[in-house]
Amino acid sequence: EKAQIGVTGLAVMGRNLARNFARHGHTVALHNRSYGRTKELVEEFGHEGKFIPSESAADFVASLERPRRVVIMVKAGGPTDAVIDEFAPLLEPGDMLIDAGNAHYLDTRRREAALKAKGLHFVGAGVSGGEEGALHGPSIMPGGPKESYDALGPLLEDIAAKVDGEPCCVHVGPDGAGHFVKMVHNGIEYADMQLIAEAYDLLRQVGGHEPAEIAAIFQDWNEGRLGSYLIEITAEVLKQVDASTGKPFVDIVVDQAEQKGTGRWTVQAALDLGVPVSGIAESVFARALSGGPDVRKAAADAGLPGPTAEKTHAGDLKADVEQALFASKIVAYAQGFQQIQAASKEYGWDIDPGAMAKIWRAGCIIRAKFLDFIKQAYDKQPELATLLVDDYFLDAVSGAQDAWRRVAATAAQQGIPAPGFASALAYYDGLRAKRLPAALIQGQRDFFGAHTYHRVDKDGSFHTLWATEDRKEVDA
Ligand code: NDP
Repeated sequence: EKAQIGVTGLAVMGRNLARNFARHGHTVALHNRSYGRTKELVEEFGHEGKFIPSESAADFVASLERPRRVVIMVKAGGPTDAVIDEFAPLLEPGDMLIDAGNAHYLDTRRREAALKAKGLHFVGAGVSGGEEGALHGPSIMPGGPKESYDALGPLLEDIAAKVDGEPCCVHVGPDGAGHFVKMVHNGIEYADMQLIAEAYDLLRQVGGHEPAEIAAIFQDWNEGRLGSYLIEITAEVLKQVDASTGKPFVDIVVDQAEQKGTGRWTVQAALDLGVPVSGIAESVFARALSGGPDVRKAAADAGLPGPTAEKTHAGDLKADVEQALFASKIVAYAQGFQQIQAASKEYGWDIDPGAMAKIWRAGCIIRAKFLDFIKQAYDKQPELATLLVDDYFLDAVSGAQDAWRRVAATAAQQGIPAPGFASALAYYDGLRAKRLPAALIQGQRDFFGAHTYHRVDKDGSFHTLWATEDRKEVDA
């Protein structure tokens, strides 16, 4: 008997994906650079389903039915290229290589183009949900050629997370579309985490609540519109007490947030596309600031002064922070979806944003109740310019804005850093503004660089002769 699908790269993620396929009744070919991991998988989990282990790449390829489906789950970057170089010569036209690692979408575009020339299908598939998701049902975002989805999709849909029986897996679009969407998913995850962290900080520093009390608040919020995996685990983390000291767990962890790079990639791509993902950018920068111990120490040593304002808030702090968190979260998602739409246009991917919200409803880290509303918004209006103008979200921010402003003001007055809340609000007000000071910037640009400007009252480009006495305006 031949295997329907193969997995090469059997560290935590690959191993769990392979087991997930086997548990769904598929025969799974197994391969890893070093045979130890393959052997271990079969010894420990062989009873879960049908596996065909191979020591060599050639045996592994021979054990697969055609067209071959080879899932690559190795360290992203050079290792992925090494594995592709090893397998491509062993495959035949029509076979599929599926990169399920966290590749950069531009690498995926490059690899897809190179393998297409050899008649091979290359599918860059975003997989979210970590180790547990890989085993019990991840959210899967496959890109690559549409034809390959016919042969591959049903297997991926089998192992994906489900919502009301519907799989969290859909063909995202050609070439790098899947990895792009996975990248933005991670960027949104950064923003969501930062906002939650700011909410905690305000409740603690202004409200004077202990971590355990804040855990209860998050648990309460989790029952409402903020209901999501990240809110749920936040409550768990805040509840945790350190065994050796008896202190709250959050107080014994070094306050320097690390990152692996997908948030940074999201911001880099957004800068190139010219899409303002300020929420994601602030969250990446906030991690960078936290992780700069030398600069923080210098600031502490110099005694950079803080405000003397009393720790009060002109309103119901808990209720206001909930509103600020929800409104800022809407902004972060609106920005992320706008980035997906911009890239879709740039690369001709034809991504359905509503379908992305749909496949993020389970399996992945940003799974949340409110993704249903995002899906509905795009189902109603696929060309929606921004989520903020959809009825549900418009209503939510209208109801939240006063509280949101109070929270941002409290943070500023009391010297508590809340770049996520503040920048989300500034973005909102920027979108709302009838006139922006961008007009003045155009004037400055024209002054020093003759960059020209447009007028509100007539067509054409204009330049003012700033260096002359009469500063006459001329057509440009
Ligand atoms: P790692 O990223 O730690 O990668 C280890 C695997 O890569 C091993 O199988 C290793 O083989 C193989 N490998 C490394 N270098 C080479 C090489 N030059 N040639 C061949 N194989 C090589 O494993 P993870 O399971 O954590 O992650 C796999 C992928 O999934 C990564 O791209 C990661 O970004 C992505 N991902 C991870 C998530 C997570 O929560 N961990 C979530 C979503 C995606 P060997 O055993 O021989 O060393």
